[in-house]
Amino acid sequence: MLPDQHLLRIPGPSPIPPSVERAMNRPMIGHRGQETKELLKAIRPRLKPVFGTEQDVLIITGSGTSGLETAVVNTVEPGDEVLVVVTGAFGDRFAKICEAYQIKTHRYEVEWGSAVDPENVKQFLESHPGIKAVFATYCETSTGVLNPISKIAEVVHAVSDALVIVDGVSCVGGVQTKMDEWGIDVLVTGSQKAMMLPAGLTFIAASERAWQVIESNKQSRFYLDLRKYRDNLQKNATPFTPGLSLLFGLDQVLHLLEEEGLDNVYARHQQMMKMTRAAFQALHIPLLTSEEAASPTVTAVKPEDFAAEELRKAVKQHFNLSVAGGQQHLQGKIFRIGHMGYCSPADVLQIIGVMEIGLQQIGKDIELGAGTKAAQKVYLETGR
Ligand SMILES: *Cc1c(COP(=O)(O)O)cnc(C)c1O
Repeated sequence: MLPDQHLLRIPGPSPIPPSVERAMNRPMIGHRGQETKELLKAIRPRLKPVFGTEQDVLIITGSGTSGLETAVVNTVEPGDEVLVVVTGAFGDRFAKICEAYQIKTHRYEVEWGSAVDPENVKQFLESHPGIKAVFATYCETSTGVLNPISKIAEVVHAVSDALVIVDGVSCVGGVQTKMDEWGIDVLVTGSQKAMMLPAGLTFIAASERAWQVIESNKQSRFYLDLRKYRDNLQKNATPFTPGLSLLFGLDQVLHLLEEEGLDNVYARHQQMMKMTRAAFQALHIPLLTSEEAASPTVTAVKPEDFAAEELRKAVKQHFNLSVAGGQQHLQGKIFRIGHMGYCSPADVLQIIGVMEIGLQQIGKDIELGAGTKAAQKVYLETGR
């Protein structure tokens, strides 16, 4: 094993492209100087296609959760009634943030591993007409589910005036996202998942409707006050010192996304999802999610006749391959493979090949190469 080679395949943080690493090594600059203005001016229009919006995408220095908290403190106030769709650990986190701010929080719980049925959201709203906002998770990282956000937004707007607020942290940048067209009112993502950067930035955009609510919302707020970020970005500035090294990296990330083309980026993620799923199916190891609910950025596997933790340990020990375990009640029951951001079909073949060895090492009887072969076939069939 190479001591400095780490195969980092957890669903975030994800690997950083070498050119992005180099960009982040640029010497420091002043945060109020002309260089920073020019950097923000260059970045500003190029984040919009990633979100699928004409609105400005605001940049806050903080991890993804600070973006979720920003969404909450800017749109609702104590006593407001909201619905949080909980399909896993990150839906649960959104609900906890709302509760921390004394928001009257209804949770719509869905079995972990399944996507929410938009029809159920509609029925819930019809019987709770006071709901001011609906919070949902686009990719539920804890289960590898991609929730049908466009349909959720459609039903919410059809039966209510509630805002649609979406956590896209583990998929925006790797999965097609049409904020304006789908009617998402607030969209949040983070830097360390499909955006190929270290943790430390969160990105957030709001619709015209959401801005009206944000303007009149009485909840007190300071660092996370979106109005400050909006007003400053109009002058190509940020209200507080931004994570400048991360912005140097972001400029290069956007360059890489543009060079590949967003449609190709999304197709690559689809292909990696299909390859990963086909491999485990060929090895007769169950997947947690159905094909319809599966996320292109992370796959959860739920073994029945061996311990997920033993396999994770074996591949870590012999190949320094890191895959994630389960969260909360799925701890020890599943393992999760991140295939997002700086990850290619060739990397997926490496993950599968290594895991087949790990399976043999822990005594699971599999046909070596069966998973790899299935993934290779998918690659050739979906060849691009
Ligand atoms: C990673 C993640 C977050 C944010 O986590 P941080 O550790 O605060 O960056 C939020 N939502 C989802 C869906 C995530 O995957």
